[in-house]
Amino acid sequence: MILPGATLGVLGGGQLGRMFCVAARTMGYRTVVLDPDVRSPAGRIADEHICAAYDDTKALQRMAEHCDAITTEFENIPAVSLQFLATKKPVHPSAPCVQVAQNRITEKNFARDIGIAPAPFYEVRQESDLAVACAATGLPAILKTATLGYDGKGQQIVKTLQQAREAFCAMGSVVCVLEKKLELKLEISALLARNLNGEVQCYPPAENEHRNGILHQSIVPARVSDELAQRAQDSAIRLAHALDYVGVLAVEFFITTDNELVFNEMAPRPHNSGHYTKDAAVTSQFEQQVRVMCGLPPGDARLISPVVMVNLLGDLWHPDWQKLLCESNAKLHLYGKEEARPGRKMGHYNVLASDIEQAIRVAGRIFTALECSNRSET
Ligand code: ADP
Ligand code: MG
Repeated sequence: MILPGATLGVLGGGQLGRMFCVAARTMGYRTVVLDPDVRSPAGRIADEHICAAYDDTKALQRMAEHCDAITTEFENIPAVSLQFLATKKPVHPSAPCVQVAQNRITEKNFARDIGIAPAPFYEVRQESDLAVACAATGLPAILKTATLGYDGKGQQIVKTLQQAREAFCAMGSVVCVLEKKLELKLEISALLARNLNGEVQCYPPAENEHRNGILHQSIVPARVSDELAQRAQDSAIRLAHALDYVGVLAVEFFITTDNELVFNEMAPRPHNSGHYTKDAAVTSQFEQQVRVMCGLPPGDARLISPVVMVNLLGDLWHPDWQKLLCESNAKLHLYGKEEARPGRKMGHYNVLASDIEQAIRVAGRIFTALECSNRSET
């Protein structure tokens, strides 16, 4: 076990890396961040910021020398970098696990192969694949780039073969997946932490509401039947065991209007929909990341209170913060980003209440008050 006083490294210096560093430092670990941005949110609070590219050999070498264990905060770290580090120090999650989650095709195949159904999909490697793909999935469908998509970027709804062709070209003719567009009732995510011994703690699923392709709020516990919630958790745990995954894993599911549970995608790291755990669970997802990379047992994933997490984007950046801070049950978390851009995640807040409908009401009231008080100039 790697204990307090040791040094933990994280690849990536965004808000997830920052919250990881806060958790690690709270527990008495030193932290090292690798991120090419001088002003990265995590870099500025870490004990050491190695400001270099993710494939910079010297920087990786230094990271390996300075750290007792290494983790990642985003999935697009080059696999070779993770492999290189793993020859020197424990790296969790492992390169093969991150690689599965880096690619929509490999992650959907992986899930399907262990009996966890994704939406009907078809690989599109070249334009001539589109006709068969559209016939296979049916239209309307969603064309998504196989790699590098996030927050609804790198995907487009297509209603005709012609639109599919145009979308494919507009995306630069990179490898894509065409996916049947499902009628969704809800979206949920299951979050867990698993260590090297295979010990798992899984949180109750979050109900996720998106706006413009970006997570707007997560409602926890999700308003689904116990049976569906359990099935989502069981599926996520099955995925983690099958991957021999060590780390924090988030799995997104759709619930269709026919009440089918459908695998969407997974993230090999803490997840935006898990930010509520900072205030409303026995153990936060960032403490879990520290615990399992250090070989400790995952902490209790029990929910302490119904909670709603709301994202604060750059669109809403000069609000009257008193509207939030004067509420006794609202917890503000800002990520220390200097520049606000539309759609950029600047922070979030959690609202705790004795019942979920009350938490939803208060969270909505606060959001409206922030919006109304927002000064539009940036
Ligand atoms: P991202 O990496 O941007 O999160 P997702 O694949 O999760 O990409 O898609 C973003 C959102 O688009 C989903 O949360 C969901 O609202 C919608 N969406 C994606 N795929 C489908 C689908 N097959 N059917 C219906 N809606 C979908
Ligand atoms: Mg998603």
